Amino acid sequence: MNKIAVIGSGYVGLVTGTCLADFGLEVICVDNDNVKIELLKSGKMPIYEPQLDDLVERNVYYKRLSFTTDIKKAVEESNVIFIAVGTPPMDDGGADLQYVMQVAENIAASMNGYKVIVDKSTVPIGTGQKVKALVSSILKERGVDYQFDVVSNPEFLREGSAIYDFTHPDRVVIGSESEMAAKVMKEVYRVLYLNETPFVTTNIETAEMIKYASNAFLAMKITYINEIANLCETVGANVKHVAKAMGKDGRISPKFLHPGPGYGGSCFPKDTEALAKIARENGLVISLIETTIEANERQKLRMVEKIREAFGDTAFNDKTLSILGITFKPKTDDMREAPSLVILTELAKLGVKLKIFDPEGRKEGAWRLEHIQGNIEFCNNEYDACEGTDGLVLITEWHQFRNMDLDRLRGMMRGNYFFDLRNVYEREFVEDKGFRYFGVGV
Ligand code: NAD
Repeated sequence: MNKIAVIGSGYVGLVTGTCLADFGLEVICVDNDNVKIELLKSGKMPIYEPQLDDLVERNVYYKRLSFTTDIKKAVEESNVIFIAVGTPPMDDGGADLQYVMQVAENIAASMNGYKVIVDKSTVPIGTGQKVKALVSSILKERGVDYQFDVVSNPEFLREGSAIYDFTHPDRVVIGSESEMAAKVMKEVYRVLYLNETPFVTTNIETAEMIKYASNAFLAMKITYINEIANLCETVGANVKHVAKAMGKDGRISPKFLHPGPGYGGSCFPKDTEALAKIARENGLVISLIETTIEANERQKLRMVEKIREAFGDTAFNDKTLSILGITFKPKTDDMREAPSLVILTELAKLGVKLKIFDPEGRKEGAWRLEHIQGNIEFCNNEYDACEGTDGLVLITEWHQFRNMDLDRLRGMMRGNYFFDLRNVYEREFVEDKGFRYFGVGV
């Protein structure tokens, strides 16, 4: 029976470990953040992810899932070790591999037999080989010749639906040079294999490339519809109808065709930057991705311009706006690279006061927006956030913002500006309630 260690218990590691435990495997989740591990041991979640708490509780109860800061013990007791630590962007856009390499070093220092080392973090092409070389050299230093294999198994889950995505993936990618390791991976994913999930088995470099190529494509698709939306605004077309008709074409698909304030999150911004850098290092320019990155930055600023222009010359710096939603998307507390960070910072620079409500974003928002703390106030719900303000800006489409009582809002707001940066509402409906409506491309 395979025993699993997952090193790094963040969004990906914790979900991976918990879901594998739910598949019936014995899993130990490791993190070097003692606070996080203590929280998990006490039954509390360090992140907000729907259904995660129940699944953790169930698997801890059945003793299939445990948590530790002791990486040595976890490595010794497991034969399959997932690396799921962060690969944040460096100043030059490249992925910072220090955490991955540190974990590889720790694994090598504690190995006591054959191990399959599985890289689940998103890493530049060639990292698997670097991990392999590092582990080999440490084993040599130790004077031991334990066998091991390195596997690339990129993750495609989306925050907010991470449990569903992990347990119902469109595909599982396994990059490996060893038949034995590929066989072990199929055993680990036995439940998915039985469910006829497509498996793509390939070499390590290809698996690493698949992840970047997929994420960059999605970022590009979002950016494409954002740019079409911008053009719709000037030519009098309605991007909702454009996207709907485009999406009906099976070659295009309706997914990722929703215009908005630009993509954000912990993956698309850093993965597009990293892919562009990998290409440049290899003497190539992926111009579509370079342009996507630029256009996405413009899109966030365009939202600020949209708001400023709507108010015209009236003293914009006297205004107070309600901000609904600051996380990079609904159903997560993650604010890494959220478009709201740029939009709110720019609005604050223009002197605007901001009353913010996000169902899960307050804790993250408090420190990430500390630089504009004089301009912001966190509120307890969407209605508090709209008390006495000049306009509202819907940035993140949480379900509860989809059905707001607009009569009540209009009654409590001082002004009537309604910026719907996710096109949640229909213009006519909002205008009938006495608001001035501004969407994206509608
Ligand atoms: P995260 O920051 O939420 O979690 C990383 C965890 O690793 C943290 O808890 C950190 O304390 C821990 N860690 C760092 N160094 C460590 C060490 N030496 N030993 C033990 N623990 C250590 O990151 P994440 O969002 O889970 O992303 C992890 C990787 O997965 C990244 O490469 C990311 O690109 C990729 N990925 C993320 C998502 C997503 O939606 N978040 C989706 C697919 C892939």
